[in-house]
Amino acid sequence: MPNMNPKKCPMPEQAPDVRNKNFEEVTLGYTAEMAIEEAQRCLNCKNKPCMTGCPVQVKIPEFISLVAEGKFLEAAAKIKETSALPAVCGRVCPQESQCECHCVRGIKGEPVAIGRLERFVADYARENSTEKAVKPESNGHKVAIVGAGPAGLTCAGDLARMGYEVTVFEALHTAGGVLVYGIPEFRLPKAIVANEVEKLKAQGVTVMTDMVIGKVLSIDELFEELGFKAVFVGSGAGLPMFMHIPGEALKGVCSANEYLTRINLMKAYKEEYDTPILHSKAAAIVGGGNVAMDAARCAKRMGAEKVYIVYRRGEAEMPARLEEQHHAKEEGIEFMTLTNPVEILGGEDGRVNGMKCIKMELGEPDASGRRRPIPVEGSEFVLDLDCVIAAIGTSPNPLIRHTTPGLDTNRKGCIVADDEHGITSKDGVFAGGDAVTGAATVILAMGAGKRAAAAMDEYIKNKNK
Ligand code: FAD
Ligand code: SF4
Repeated sequence: MPNMNPKKCPMPEQAPDVRNKNFEEVTLGYTAEMAIEEAQRCLNCKNKPCMTGCPVQVKIPEFISLVAEGKFLEAAAKIKETSALPAVCGRVCPQESQCECHCVRGIKGEPVAIGRLERFVADYARENSTEKAVKPESNGHKVAIVGAGPAGLTCAGDLARMGYEVTVFEALHTAGGVLVYGIPEFRLPKAIVANEVEKLKAQGVTVMTDMVIGKVLSIDELFEELGFKAVFVGSGAGLPMFMHIPGEALKGVCSANEYLTRINLMKAYKEEYDTPILHSKAAAIVGGGNVAMDAARCAKRMGAEKVYIVYRRGEAEMPARLEEQHHAKEEGIEFMTLTNPVEILGGEDGRVNGMKCIKMELGEPDASGRRRPIPVEGSEFVLDLDCVIAAIGTSPNPLIRHTTPGLDTNRKGCIVADDEHGITSKDGVFAGGDAVTGAATVILAMGAGKRAAAAMDEYIKNKNK
């Protein structure tokens, strides 16, 4: 008999006024008892509607049935059949708009907490499994991966399991992409990402950090001088956009990417690190996505008394996950929606001391289908601030496209690749993740890496027929 409680089993978490002063994980995870109770809410639907919302087709009802029976390691193995990074996805995937929004339990109550169960199972397996990763026998072919984010790591793992000799070239000093330099520790502990990278290494994947492809080596050199048979480009979309308003060059203005990289990758929040960072008293984060929420929550934890989210549309249009919006508000972040910055103001010392904003109203839908924000005449006002963080989007870094002849990109600077296989205009070069789609999600990047791995295998086999 299923558990017919209309509500999800609640997730234990740190109290808001405690967690907004530390960088430890906000949500604490289910216990085994909570996981079983929640798994018993699943109806094990024959037509598996939840699976239709999962970009990597995790066998959701099957793994949840195993959790309900207390078979946690078997449940982990079931998820691993299709998903390479379940401990990451269980924490950061937007389940509310993917698997959980298709769950039939959501019709008369809350959907089954699929994400929380995935996280529980992955954490349980990491802590309790004694299974050792094995290095498959080599098939003698070398493949290269550019970028160690979720797209590159997933592609690397799949190719390694097929017997390829895989080398991942990563520009930064640590592998993980946005998972380590963007998403903060309090949402995704870095030890979890490091553990996944170590597992890949145990399967024979070589990870070379501090290797900027396009500077140290070009993609052509990977083929011609190093003998790689195919290359996957998963270089992400790490180039921040700016607002192009007066005052953007003042001290105290930065991109969310730079702010988060200093805090996460360069550990500016730890006293023993000497990474320079602005300890703001009042900060405005411009934007309404996950990146804006992360930057705002970091600014609060770095000691800011006032932190504003300044967003030109309404709350209903905000692209950030609902959970992130909810957590940010609980932590004391003030949402100033229907508000747009006009000018950043500075003192004689060249530092930010305010931001002139204008109120907005929503007009007809624009090309993106969202209602267009229109300035309300005469509604300007000034916010007192000492820091402005731009979180209004990113695009791919132009280095790869400038150094790779024959690789087509579109007007947004994204690599043109087919969605099914990641095939690009250049022979032997495949691509996926944010480098192709522009800033998107972890699970979509993983799905693209997976599909490209299968296509690269086929490509190399055909070449060697
Ligand atoms: P990335 O993760 O960007 O990895 C690309 C890697 O390539 C990087 O490590 C980069 O250093 C490396 N690289 C770039 N150029 C080169 C080069 N020339 N040579 C070698 N290496 C190179 N998604 C969610 O699903 N849920 C969330 O909650 C969420 N929150 C986010 C919060 C923040 C702050 C940010 C920035 C993004 C967030 N996202 C979230 C989006 C998600 O993280 C990305 O969509 C995803 O990481 C894309 O994966 P990727 O592998 O394509 O690229
Ligand atoms: Fe279980 Fe919901 Fe999926 Fe049905 S839709 S199998 S109840 S998780």
